[in-house]
Amino acid sequence: MFHWEGGLKLTRPGLAIDFRRRQPRAFISHAHADHIARHAYALCTPETAALYHARLGKRPVLEMPYRRPIEWGGLRLTAFPAGHCLGSAMLLAEDGDQSLLYTGDFKLGESATAEAAELPRAEILVVECTYGHPHYRLPPRSEVVGQLLELVRGALEADRTPTIIAYPLGKAQEVTRLLTAEGIPVLQHRTAYRMSRVYEAFGVNLGDYRLLGRQPEPGCAVIVPPRTPPREEGDEVRLAVTGWAIDAGAKHRFGVDHALPLSDHADYDELLEAVGRVGPKKVYCTHGPESFVDRLRDAGFDAHPLGRASQRRLF
Ligand SMILES: [Zn+2]
Repeated sequence: MFHWEGGLKLTRPGLAIDFRRRQPRAFISHAHADHIARHAYALCTPETAALYHARLGKRPVLEMPYRRPIEWGGLRLTAFPAGHCLGSAMLLAEDGDQSLLYTGDFKLGESATAEAAELPRAEILVVECTYGHPHYRLPPRSEVVGQLLELVRGALEADRTPTIIAYPLGKAQEVTRLLTAEGIPVLQHRTAYRMSRVYEAFGVNLGDYRLLGRQPEPGCAVIVPPRTPPREEGDEVRLAVTGWAIDAGAKHRFGVDHALPLSDHADYDELLEAVGRVGPKKVYCTHGPESFVDRLRDAGFDAHPLGRASQRRLF
């Protein structure tokens, strides 16, 4: 049903999945930079299409709203929410004989800004398992959100600027919503602000947020993209929000005062839960450690690694 050709391709329709190089026909699971290219023709959800156009300019797309199957290239294709960012989708492909689910980047559980993930059953599962090691068991979300609010409020009370380093699509909007819901206004760097306008266009209310000007305003939290250097003047408290915060040395690695494990990817336990819920006969793992394949085999699944073993950059 599929083959590997520098990436995952559905064989019958010749549909490339999440390629970073231009393709004649591609499915885009979500609009993070490591999943998109200027394709001749792309299939994606309407939300992802709007974000894709905002990032790379207007391109030809076929929109696939969630849960509405289309017949395409000899297959029935359906997008399901992946819980990762606005418009993020899993792809279910059925040929009347077999079914294949491609998860893309996904997360189970609660999100303030992404539709909760749905996992249909499928015979073949291609699963993204970035955090496929028991080391990556993240603390409960409410605990991490509590820490975030405490640090941001503490900085504001001390007349310092809380600066949160967050990827411009997904994490920036999630943090914005968490803060504005507690009455803390947010100033967003223009890269995040552009994405936020698309969220608002699709009815996701992000509360009191504005475009960051030359100077942060008193009483506001600031959101900037990764690799933004500290401000030369002014007193900042810098925070990173990422699943990698679990690693020793994360603060040093991200150049921040605090690193908080708020993730938009499934952690180790969620990965195992997801595989169990799909109930596949065969599992193919992408982007994760090889040991996760062994762990799935121990649990009785017919599991295999697929493509390159690891993903060094993560969005
Ligand atoms: Zn992603």
